[in-house]
Amino acid sequence: MQTEQLAIHGGSKVKSTPFGTGKRFGPEEAAELAEALDQNTLFYHFGGKVKQFLSDFNDMYGVPCSVAASSGTAAIHIALGTAGISVGDEVITSPITDQGTVIGILYQNAIPVFADLDPQTYNMDPRSIEERITERTKAIVVVHLAGNPADMDPIMEIARKHRLKVIEDCAQSYLTRYKGLLVGTIGDYGCFSTNDFKHISTGDGGIVTVNSGEEADYHAAHAFADKNYQRFGNTVQRDLHYVAPNYRMTELQGAVGVAQLKKLGGICETRRRHGDRLTAGIRTLPGIQAHYVEPDNECTYWFYMLRLKLDELSCTRTEFCKSLEAEGIPNMEGYIPDVVYMQPLFQNRTAYPSSHFPFSLTGITYERGLCPNAEQILATAVRLPTNEFYTETDIGDMIEGIRKVAAFYAK
Ligand SMILES: *Cc1c(COP(=O)(O)O)cnc(C)c1O
Repeated sequence: MQTEQLAIHGGSKVKSTPFGTGKRFGPEEAAELAEALDQNTLFYHFGGKVKQFLSDFNDMYGVPCSVAASSGTAAIHIALGTAGISVGDEVITSPITDQGTVIGILYQNAIPVFADLDPQTYNMDPRSIEERITERTKAIVVVHLAGNPADMDPIMEIARKHRLKVIEDCAQSYLTRYKGLLVGTIGDYGCFSTNDFKHISTGDGGIVTVNSGEEADYHAAHAFADKNYQRFGNTVQRDLHYVAPNYRMTELQGAVGVAQLKKLGGICETRRRHGDRLTAGIRTLPGIQAHYVEPDNECTYWFYMLRLKLDELSCTRTEFCKSLEAEGIPNMEGYIPDVVYMQPLFQNRTAYPSSHFPFSLTGITYERGLCPNAEQILATAVRLPTNEFYTETDIGDMIEGIRKVAAFYAK
């Protein structure tokens, strides 16, 4: 492989044109918002926008019912609450995720237990999940990281065998398919985020699908999102049996959501094409492990994350990333700075100030080395932002930049 002078050493830059950009919101969102205001109410139960948003979402996903939430974090908490997760229960989840994945577990005073990941897909390894199951385990929160589906068949089999609820965290994985099935429709609940950084945005917001379609589950999820108010038909019941927060979505968010959902198919299709093209372009380069997607699956790349095989390269990750940056290709080292269990909350076991509850119930501790694959992934990963406004030229330049830098540092 020929090597060219790197931009960081004074050579010419690969990227000579600006990356494509665009506007996420336009007249469609404005029209929906105007209609929402014209209703003279912004309350989800009286207006029509949140209802429309959910009904469009249900149609797109082919699910029987769903509940709107104020965030993805809230959606996951609603699913946990509806699944009956309570004090001292253990919930198995991923150590590479947004912290919103674990917040609801701790609010239920349940105990997060972290399973290790597959080194290639960055998703939970079913064997590690099974190893972590104890008498206390009640649920698995499966994170589909960066648009790539987790291996759901064995996970569902394990869950059935041990009678565990499965909550899919799909915040980064819109229209992601596992063996043809949309993620979020496979487990008991599918949780989505519409915060401003996700495939679609309502500013903040979330959705939880209730895949059983049972009225009791739907009603429980609905009530859990609305401080236990049960608003069905024209009746309102306020019976307070258990703690339930107020996670309601407003009509303003619902209105923007209606317009955003119409764009979702195109956004995901473009991201998928771009991500898969990146993989095809860099897969065989020295020192590079591409973002691996199983052939039966479809990834919608919330971001693209390759790993460096540092034993094949004569540079550190920092040098690689700086060189790539100098070529005009933006990138970051890793994803989150460290695995979730190295956060002070887990290291000090302080979910609440001056208390070790609920960790004290089992005496659990979270040590470095608990999930070695996950730790290695974060230590060797390079994250490339992807976006539906990037052009084919941009993707070609990204491939060219990675090729140039990898070729230069190849041993
Ligand atoms: C964004 C995100 C969340 C939380 O969503 P919010 O809407 O920000 O609360 C949860 N899990 C994952 C994997 C996410 O990426």
